[in-house]
Amino acid sequence: MTAAVEFRAVSRHFGSVKAVDGVDLTIAEGAFFAMLGPSGSGKTTCLRLISGFEQPSSGQIRIFGEDVSATPPHLRNVNTVFQDYALFPHMNVRDNVAYGLMVKGMARAARYAKADAMLALVKLDAYGSRKPGQLSGGQRQRVALARALVNEPRVLLLDEPLGALDLKLREAMQDELKSLQRRLGITFVFVTHDQGEALSMADSLAVFNEGRIAQIGTPAQVYAHPRTRFVADFVGSSNVLPPALTRSLGGPAKWSSLRPEALHPDPQGRLTGTVTSLRYLGAGNRVTLSAQGQDIAVLLPTGTEAPKPGQSLTLTFDPSALHVMDDA
Ligand code: ATP
Repeated sequence: MTAAVEFRAVSRHFGSVKAVDGVDLTIAEGAFFAMLGPSGSGKTTCLRLISGFEQPSSGQIRIFGEDVSATPPHLRNVNTVFQDYALFPHMNVRDNVAYGLMVKGMARAARYAKADAMLALVKLDAYGSRKPGQLSGGQRQRVALARALVNEPRVLLLDEPLGALDLKLREAMQDELKSLQRRLGITFVFVTHDQGEALSMADSLAVFNEGRIAQIGTPAQVYAHPRTRFVADFVGSSNVLPPALTRSLGGPAKWSSLRPEALHPDPQGRLTGTVTSLRYLGAGNRVTLSAQGQDIAVLLPTGTEAPKPGQSLTLTFDPSALHVMDDA
């Protein structure tokens, strides 16, 4: 099967800033692909390289097998949903959605029929005559989505589309976006710095760090087998253990990762430390202890007796949970 998007040794440098630095990437057709990474790691630049608003300094980009180096944005069959939605404030919702079709020269009746169908898809059929300023954040987000989808792109690029929404709405939109993507079968490329969002929505994700891909895989692969300290810490804030500590816990003398939820109190355990802090999270407590000069986080479910700061705590874990990493 032809990949939807392929990067081969793609770089985009701005003077001395290596925004994107030698990225190889294959996004399968129909995938929900997430680009995850901290601020400034090159995610948005990658998205702009796909849409054609940015050109690579070197390397090659293919969209459905075609080298797009000479293809302008409007001929790429790719649409973007921006974080700020970029709606036209003076136009009503229906006109916002129909705008792209008008630019393409589609007749009035046909473009309104398509716009209405898209508004129904995002459950905004009753809001066509409102201006964007008369909508909630979540509704504006859906208009932006409808406006991109009405062009029937083969690839939809989403740049932190849920960033402006509160937590509850964000979670609802995550489910909606995911089911919309499944129904339409369009390739989604989703940029986020929220690891929970990437893990729960994506079929496949790339973790970016300083313009490079630190790891690429399914959410389960990346979570359970982080390749580097950076990935272990960024995706799910794991305990990253130095070689000496790994060794004292029965592993090889290498860096390793141990997830907070893999640790359980047990007086017979191998790891003993002093509790330094406790944070109540609703579904449990996140306890930090100091062990062999290292901060260790532990997730204790509600119902487990919460230790107090200053108290000693001994922990056990399944040996398979100690994941040894590639880092030198
Ligand atoms: P965020 O999550 O904050 O949006 P990001 O991962 O999307 O971050 P990019 O926007 O791709 O990161 O930026 C990567 C790096 O390239 C940053 O250091 C940024 O300052 C720099 N950069 C991006 N665009 C330009 C530009 N037009 N000129 C100069 N530097 C740029």
